[in-house]
Amino acid sequence: MPRFKQIPQILELMAHKDQIRNISITAHIDHGKTTLTDHLLAEAGLLAQSIAGEARALDYLPEEQRRGITIKTANISLVHETHGAAYLINLIDTPGHVDFTGKTTQALRATDGTIIVIDAVEEIMPQTETVTKQALEERVKPILFINKIDRLITELKLSPKQIENKLTHIITDFNNLIELHAEPDYAQKWKIDAKHGNVAFGSALHKWAFTLETAQQQSIRFTDIINTYRNHAYKKLETLLLIHRTILDIAVRHLPSPKEAQEYRIPRIWKGNLSSPVGQAMLNCTDTGPATIYITNAQTDPKNGLIATGRLYSGQIKPGAPVYLVNAQKILTIQQAAIYMSQYRQPVDKITAGNIAAITGSDTIHTGETIVDLEHKDAMVPFEPIRNPTEPVITVGIEPKQPKNLPRLIQALQCLAIEDQNITVTINKETGEYQLSGIGQLHLEIALKNLKDSSGQIIDINTPKPTVNYRETITKTGTMVHAKSPSKLNKITVQVQPLDQKTIDLIDDGSLTDQMNQQQIAETLRTEADWPREQAENVWAVETHRNILVNLAEQSEPLIEARDTIILGFKWACQNGPLSGEPMRGIKATIIDVQLDPDPQNRDSTQIMPATSRATLGSILTAKPVLLQPMCKIVVTAPPQHVGQVTTIITKKEGKIQTVEPKGPTTVITGFIPVAGTFNLTNEIRTATSGGAFWQATFDLWERVSQDKAAVIIQETRKKRGLPAQIPNADKFID
Ligand code: GDP
Repeated sequence: MPRFKQIPQILELMAHKDQIRNISITAHIDHGKTTLTDHLLAEAGLLAQSIAGEARALDYLPEEQRRGITIKTANISLVHETHGAAYLINLIDTPGHVDFTGKTTQALRATDGTIIVIDAVEEIMPQTETVTKQALEERVKPILFINKIDRLITELKLSPKQIENKLTHIITDFNNLIELHAEPDYAQKWKIDAKHGNVAFGSALHKWAFTLETAQQQSIRFTDIINTYRNHAYKKLETLLLIHRTILDIAVRHLPSPKEAQEYRIPRIWKGNLSSPVGQAMLNCTDTGPATIYITNAQTDPKNGLIATGRLYSGQIKPGAPVYLVNAQKILTIQQAAIYMSQYRQPVDKITAGNIAAITGSDTIHTGETIVDLEHKDAMVPFEPIRNPTEPVITVGIEPKQPKNLPRLIQALQCLAIEDQNITVTINKETGEYQLSGIGQLHLEIALKNLKDSSGQIIDINTPKPTVNYRETITKTGTMVHAKSPSKLNKITVQVQPLDQKTIDLIDDGSLTDQMNQQQIAETLRTEADWPREQAENVWAVETHRNILVNLAEQSEPLIEARDTIILGFKWACQNGPLSGEPMRGIKATIIDVQLDPDPQNRDSTQIMPATSRATLGSILTAKPVLLQPMCKIVVTAPPQHVGQVTTIITKKEGKIQTVEPKGPTTVITGFIPVAGTFNLTNEIRTATSGGAFWQATFDLWERVSQDKAAVIIQETRKKRGLPAQIPNADKFID
């Protein structure tokens, strides 16, 4: 017997593809997404009406409740009846904080439409633009909910005309974003127009919302709404202008069904053969074709192990069915298939195409995995990977206080890496310390908290202050350096030069990766970065930190055999820059000549790897290496009287102010700040502005560190890593 009364109806609706909507709610932090979602849940009977807006039902992690922010995404399926028909709404909530952007993009992949919530006072903020851009990249259709209209009335005290102007201004700005980021086919089609009813206005806090159409039907004008506030009678708006009805109505009416959306979304997110049975089944969203799923989230649950959430694009899944994990190349038997009811999951007999499913049965499904039923495993190619717009730029070192707890720590770290793709875990070989890197302070704090919880608090983690991740790069072409293997029987000559910006951008946005075959790499480099044919066709490796290895040495049997170890030697050099042991960024290393001993025993990896890395590092040292630091884009919202204090703090931390603009009663300051400058920024800004200002910072670019500052950082880092104080001379690597 299902725990939720709607389950039988949900199961029935799953078969009617026109009556399904997969939607997400996205926003800049604090614009009211969680408050809105709570009202939708209240309607679904998952939350008492009286506490909606206060209970934060989708913020189900204790940590989220405590901090009042949404970190993980939570899902729910609910039924909405409108115009005489019932609709199944699969809803995904998304985190608003920039440190969790990766999770938002994954959530968008599972949905076909998104409701973007905008605070009418603050208008469009940086994270609004980021989510809009991400949605458009996934061909997810956006509509708007302009929230906090009550603030325009009670705080800004605007007249009806001024309110109308402000709202028109927000819509125009939003349409400019669509124009800027949408593909040409969608730029016109997806523009917002209040007259068409694809934008709702309201107050999530006071539980009301309307579109121009519903307002007309009820003969309500802005003047009436203003009067209800003046007369302290705004409570009656919640029964006149039902918020859940307005929002779900516009979702049903203006967002596509999976059947409609998959026809244009599949060619964008899947590059396989569209006329194959798999391609056709996905384009048409059919239940009878092969089962295909893209996994958008993987999370561990103390009772059930790993729970993977994914979107079914075609076919159906059932408990007991064997499926194939395309990336991991593994067979898996589905133990349980369930639908989401907020923090609860309702196991069901089957889930069909165009819906969102939770599945259990494997401890190794990663976010981004492609699943297909076993029968079609050879016909399936993976879905396009989701691009991660950010990089891990800060690190903490952790180790168990008691060595006997190391296996538990490793296990917990593995779970964390599966759940959160923005976390990277490395081990410092000299100290044995594990290093956890994340994209921001809050991100790392939460990851550490999860790690402690998931390891049952047995692990005591030493968490010194986070450190900044730096990079090293070169500023000119190096000389050709030849290095010999330890036995002196093999010799490799390498020359490095700065990698061109176009190629760096291609690696940055995921268009050039080591997973591509040699032909695809050559094609991409020739057509998109103007590489000469000979070089493009001889790329041996694309290293993740934006470095490339090209081989121009004459091909021979021994060289072909040594290829993999040469690549390993190059990658090792890229990960251990000569200045401070930080990764290299933006180098092109060319193998000019290779002389190998004829006896294979004399050219194994212990010989070839060091020869390659020594030659690469030697050439780097002749190419004027410099240190790069991560810079964040920062946005501060502050009361006008505190703007001076905020800009002083930012410039003192070597940041730069870009714009200072009034927005309603507050002022928005944007600029850049070194990541190192964001540590303790919350306290400093809070103290200087008596708690009136808020900031968000996202990693934006790598910037060269001044020579004096670099010298200090390099010394500190070398000491920490146990490296000799003196930076080695290139001669040390030349044999
Ligand atoms: P999220 O970060 O987008 O999920 O935002 P929340 O839903 O947590 O809301 C952030 C803050 O704005 C909370 O203090 C809410 O009570 C408040 N809030 C949300 N909607 C409204 C609204 O319509 N009017 C006003 N005045 N405050 C609102």
